[in-house]
Parts: sequence; C-alpha cells; structure tokens
Amino acid sequence: MAGRPSRELGSVMSSYLPGVTPSDLSRCLPGYVVETLRKALPYFENKIQGFAMGDALLTGVETRSSSPVRLLRNADGQSNIKGLYPMGEGAGYAGGIMSSAVDGMRMAEGWMAAGS
Ligand SMILES: Cc1cc2nc3c(=O)[nH]c(=O)nc-3n(C[C@H](O)[C@H](O)[C@H](O)COP(=O)(O)OP(=O)(O)OC[C@H]3O[C@@H](n4cnc5c(N)ncnc54)[C@H](O)[C@@H]3O)c2cc1C
Repeated sequence: MAGRPSRELGSVMSSYLPGVTPSDLSRCLPGYVVETLRKALPYFENKIQGFAMGDALLTGVETRSSSPVRLLRNADGQSNIKGLYPMGEGAGYAGGIMSSAVDGMRMAEGWMAAGS
C-alpha cells in the first residue's frame, strides 16, 4: 500500500506451504491491477474490519472469478471431441467451488445413468 516492499511478516501468520516471502506486488502484477488493489483494499476495510490492516497478507492472486472460455457440450455432456466430457470451472460451466462440484456431480451421475 505504501509503494515499498514489506521486509518482514507482522501479526498475521500464514499457514500457506511452502511459505510466503514479503514482496512488492508491483514487481509481480501489471500496474492497473496494483492500482485497483490499492483502491479496493480500503473499500473492503469498510465492510470487513481488518481487511486492509497493515499486516494483512495477499497470498493468492485471483484475477477473475470464472473461466473466460467455454467448451461446448451436447445434452449428454459430451464435447465435439468424442469421449471428452468437459466439466467444472476449466470447462466454463462453473465459477466457484460449489458450482464446480455440482457440475461435476451432475455430469458424473448423468454419465453413469447413461451406462457410459
Ligand atoms: C486463489 C483462488 C481463490 C479462490 N477462492 C474461491 C472462493 O473463495 N470461493 C469459491 O467458490 N471459489 C474460489 N475459487 C475458485 C475455485 O477454487 C474453483 O472454481 C474450483 O476449484 C474449480 O474446481 P474444478 O474441480 O473445476 O477445478 P480444479 O479444482 O482446478 O481441479 C482440477 C484438477 O485437475 C488436475 N489436473 C489438471 N491437469 C491435469 C492433467 N493433465 N492430468 C491430471 N490431472 C490434472 C489439477 O491438478 C486439479 O486437481 C478460487 C480460486 C483461486 C485460484
């Protein structure tokens, strides 16, 4: 937030393995992303106190919430490549943990019912 790399971790301990190294995100991300994060963090602080605290860690970078492409599938769930049943987020039919899981279950159940 201050435009300089953090030197050490503060009160927030990360459970991420293999561990985290403080850095300046502007060295890793495009300028417009860094600028948007800089504006968004104080905004979220108003909604969730502590979100933008000085010791907060940004560990994973998620730049969009769902796949930008969709592998089309027919009513049986099969793509135009015979035997390929795209499902979940990468296939473009889900945008999160729950919807990906449900899409996978739905496809697997349909697949089993069809006796494939
Ligand atoms: C940083 C981050 C934060 C997120 N936060 C949230 C959140 O808070 N809430 C939410 O709902 N969603 C969140 N998501 C999105 C969510 O994680 C995904 O939508 C969901 O995990 C997609 O599930 P999936 O089963 O379709 O794919 P994945 O979970 O990506 O599973 C695909 C699997 O296929 C394996 N694989 C890939 N290639 C091969 C291969 N060639 N051979 C064998 N295996 C292979 C991979 O190793 C992986 O295990 C987040 C995503 C990220 C990256």
